[in-house]
Amino acid sequence: MNGEEGGGDEHARTNQTALIQRAETYFGKLEARCEEILVEVKESAQLLADADTDPYKRSYLQFKSAIIAQFTSIIQKGSDTFQKQIMPNANTLEMMKVSQLFNNWQSKVVGIMTHAFDGVMERDLEKEYAEMMDEYEAARDAFHCKQCGAKLQLAQFYFTATYLTCEFCQTQNTFDPGSKARMIEHIARPLAESRCKSEYEAYRTRKSEVGQREATADYDRYVRAMIAQMNNILPGMEEQHQHFYNRLMHDYNNLIVPW
Ligand SMILES: [Zn+2]
Repeated sequence: MNGEEGGGDEHARTNQTALIQRAETYFGKLEARCEEILVEVKESAQLLADADTDPYKRSYLQFKSAIIAQFTSIIQKGSDTFQKQIMPNANTLEMMKVSQLFNNWQSKVVGIMTHAFDGVMERDLEKEYAEMMDEYEAARDAFHCKQCGAKLQLAQFYFTATYLTCEFCQTQNTFDPGSKARMIEHIARPLAESRCKSEYEAYRTRKSEVGQREATADYDRYVRAMIAQMNNILPGMEEQHQHFYNRLMHDYNNLIVPW
């Protein structure tokens, strides 16, 4: 569309604008694609990292390098287009403007790529959970009445410090599950998610094929499986988990953009 000489000042000015506008649109599209990849990372990276029980996290790292490869290929593509197609067709003034445009674009997308995985933790949730449960069980086994010394039974799972009355002497005792066990509440969701990786991936695959609305049943299947896991991890919290399920499905349905 560009590069023809002659035609007077006005024609040159029109061409100038056209080249710059076209470059702006082009880099804008590549940036939007990077933002889409970033959304995918934010949605999936932590779950995939958590679900990877390999101590070296190889399957998660494979996902990460595939994402980095997508970013670098976009950066390479933009850079090639800039050097081979935009610059050779630009006059001095255009060169200045498109160079600035390109530099801004490049530093922005490199920044997106560099920070995409910030905050994703490479942890071993099953191991952490096993340690928490060990501590919980030790506290439960050691729980005796401070007054009469009777062994006190726990009717349910208590992950926070709780007052319990001795059935023999009616003394109030405090059951303290321990500082690690108190963290069970905080890992329940990521642990449950990591245990539902196959349901999650089935949903993601379906969503990429048919879109969010048509993938609602698959998302529902994933969330139900996840809630069932949360009920296993935190028994006695079924009602709260049901509310959590309702909220997730409500948010999901609200995210669907009508058209
Ligand atoms: Zn007692």
